[in-house]
Amino acid sequence: MPELRQNFATKEWVVIATERARRPEQMVQHRERKVIAPFVSSCPFCPGNEGLTPPELLRVPASPDAPWHVRVVPNKFAALSRDVQPTRTVHRSRRTVNGFGAHDVIIETPDHSQILALMPDSYVAEILRVYKTRYDELSLDPRVAHITIFKNHGPDAGTSLEHPHSQLVATPVISHQVRERFQHAMRHYDDYGECMFCQMIEEELQDESRIVMVSEHFVAMELYASPAPFCTHIYPRRHMASFGDVGAAEINDLSRVLRTLLAKLYHGLADPDFNFTIRSAPAENVGVKYFHWYLSIIPRLTRVAGFELGSGMFINTVLPEAAAEFLRKVDAEAAGTAVAGS
Ligand SMILES: [Zn+2]
Ligand SMILES: [Zn+2]
Repeated sequence: MPELRQNFATKEWVVIATERARRPEQMVQHRERKVIAPFVSSCPFCPGNEGLTPPELLRVPASPDAPWHVRVVPNKFAALSRDVQPTRTVHRSRRTVNGFGAHDVIIETPDHSQILALMPDSYVAEILRVYKTRYDELSLDPRVAHITIFKNHGPDAGTSLEHPHSQLVATPVISHQVRERFQHAMRHYDDYGECMFCQMIEEELQDESRIVMVSEHFVAMELYASPAPFCTHIYPRRHMASFGDVGAAEINDLSRVLRTLLAKLYHGLADPDFNFTIRSAPAENVGVKYFHWYLSIIPRLTRVAGFELGSGMFINTVLPEAAAEFLRKVDAEAAGTAVAGS
């Protein structure tokens, strides 16, 4: 029987379409991935072309055989500008803040053809440490209200540049969606005296059916009311409101969990396009007891259509329990090589 499930944290309803449910293996991508060269002379992110990007904000030095491991540069086509004061104006029905913000590009590797799923864990840890450094720096800017860290992998996830990179956008306002989720979390804390995420993590660890992996500091799971097939969340097991609170040992552990999950998706579903995003407390809510940061991986296996746009409800055709079972079984170290055709 089809089932509607409600997301505990967001209160959003999802239709789990069991009548037309698809087995997880039916979501394997069948398409030609073009062969990608490790160096592309016209690519602004490839080594030797550093002059093609705006002046660098941060560089992780590398071993003597490579000039750098990770670089952070302002986005050349930034959605927002660093050099203005966020002045708010309200004129009757029209409300504006001028376009202050920071838009960083984190170039993950000098190798144009490399991907996170196949990198060593220690290299992924380096990238996560760069996220944290930039997150911490921008959190101190009094003009910044909220920071979003994200990655787009593949054309269906909105990538415009092939070279592996992620992005960070700091905004002078908090979006309505983020604010609403905060209010749910705060209300839950007021009513029950506990973090709703800590509660959910504890219940999911007991139930086990949607757990994909558990490490010393993190747990990765399919959501009970997952809005899309294989949408996977990684939560810190200790309560932490902000990504900025993560410790050095935790970063190393997170890099292993994140890289393993990406490798499971890569090997299990044949390199699907995906986004991942870090959902963290807004700058003004660092340290609160009611919100719990997490990393959300969203493979782009289905398209949002009219029903979703019109109703705000998603239809998920893969049971979250089946997706979790499938991912648990995929050997993350499987081939150790690229998927055929990629
Ligand atoms: Zn490149
Ligand atoms: Zn918590």
